[in-house]
Amino acid sequence: MTITALPERAAVVIVGGGMAGLSCAAALARQGVGDVVLLEARTLAHAGASSFGESRMYREMYSDPVLCRLAQEANRLWREEERHAGEALREPHGLLFYGESWEEETIEGSIPGAQRVMDDQGIPYEALNAEEIAARFPLRPQPNFTGLFEPTAGAVRSDKVVAHWIRTARAAGHQLVEHCPVASIDAQGGGVTLENGSHISADQVVVACGIWSQLLLTPLGLAPKLEVWPMLWAHYTVDPGLADRYPQWFCFQRERGDDGGLYYGFPVLSTTADGRPRIKAGIDWAPEALRVQDPNAMTREAPTRLLELLDTFLFEALEGVQERVETVISPYSMASDVNFVLDRLTPSLSLFAGGSGQAFKFAPLIGESLARLASGRAPAVDLTCWSHQRDAVRA
Ligand SMILES: Cc1cc2nc3c(=O)[nH]c(=O)nc-3n(C[C@H](O)[C@H](O)[C@H](O)COP(=O)(O)OP(=O)(O)OC[C@H]3O[C@@H](n4cnc5c(N)ncnc54)[C@H](O)[C@@H]3O)c2cc1C
Repeated sequence: MTITALPERAAVVIVGGGMAGLSCAAALARQGVGDVVLLEARTLAHAGASSFGESRMYREMYSDPVLCRLAQEANRLWREEERHAGEALREPHGLLFYGESWEEETIEGSIPGAQRVMDDQGIPYEALNAEEIAARFPLRPQPNFTGLFEPTAGAVRSDKVVAHWIRTARAAGHQLVEHCPVASIDAQGGGVTLENGSHISADQVVVACGIWSQLLLTPLGLAPKLEVWPMLWAHYTVDPGLADRYPQWFCFQRERGDDGGLYYGFPVLSTTADGRPRIKAGIDWAPEALRVQDPNAMTREAPTRLLELLDTFLFEALEGVQERVETVISPYSMASDVNFVLDRLTPSLSLFAGGSGQAFKFAPLIGESLARLASGRAPAVDLTCWSHQRDAVRA
């Protein structure tokens, strides 16, 4: 769709075509709201945004009991989403949390914290020692490492999900418009002005701009306090003989000097163009010196030191890793308490931001909740923990 074909008004305008904007559009479609325009500055789920790529972890293994319950609700909604899609959108191959076990929470939780919450909430898991981990997977855990394996966790196929949301929204008559940056939002909501100067009035505006949300909300005095973290991930080819043995894993180690200690990886979910099996792996940490306020100031180059750390971890801690074949920097939008912002800011303006490295698994809940806010209703479940008013994000 070209920008000149845009309407002058719509029931709902969504700004941003990543996970949050697209899941909201799909939920509005299912709620029967047809008069929706989604405006995306570049292309839907593009490579410079946070929703890019083939996979995201989902799990209920949380140290925070509230997030654990919300993850259970999201899994219920994923099952509905899969019924609508007529296909599986997730791969339930399980998730191994392993590493050092110490009483301190990291941005992804901790092994003892997650074990306590899973015990309290009756979530099935297996406890493993280093020998058992090494016998079962092509991993080389340190002798003091312990592990928890959640068999019902796995990977969301984010590329498939994005395609499903786009189909759902378009089938409902929504206009999904690419290369259409929004320059400003009317005070209180009520409409948006595009960079080309045209204006679209709206009963409701949903801001779903990831790290760029601050740029639109600061002039309105409504921006939450968030940081931008450049996050490194990469694809590595692996020994075809081991290709079906890699788990989905998250390794917890204490921060030491310039090593944040948190690494993660996926099983083989795809191949290189010439057919070699590959795994995706990343560092779940960015040094303070690289964290910024201004999204346009975030580095887009992979920092040499982070690349060294990731390569060293992959080649030393996993068996059969052969070659790094693709390297990507993707942004985290981070609140100081590592939780999200999903809230109504004014009667006609709602926001999702601060998705950190965790929001994709909650996508159906995020989409449905934003759609309810845009229809003048409250979210179906208590989302106080994602409030725009909490101290951690109040500017
Ligand atoms: C490396 C990485 C690994 C992750 N791993 C996991 C995981 O394993 N499990 C999990 O649950 N979550 C994970 N996440 C988190 C999850 O992927 C993100 O929280 C989520 O994708 C954020 O989506 P979003 O829609 O808020 O932002 P984005 O995807 O960044 O979308 C925002 C969109 O808004 C557009 N935009 C910005 N400004 C404007 C404007 N003015 N006008 C129009 N459009 C605009 C942008 O171009 C962009 O397309 C990970 C994130 C990253 C980066």
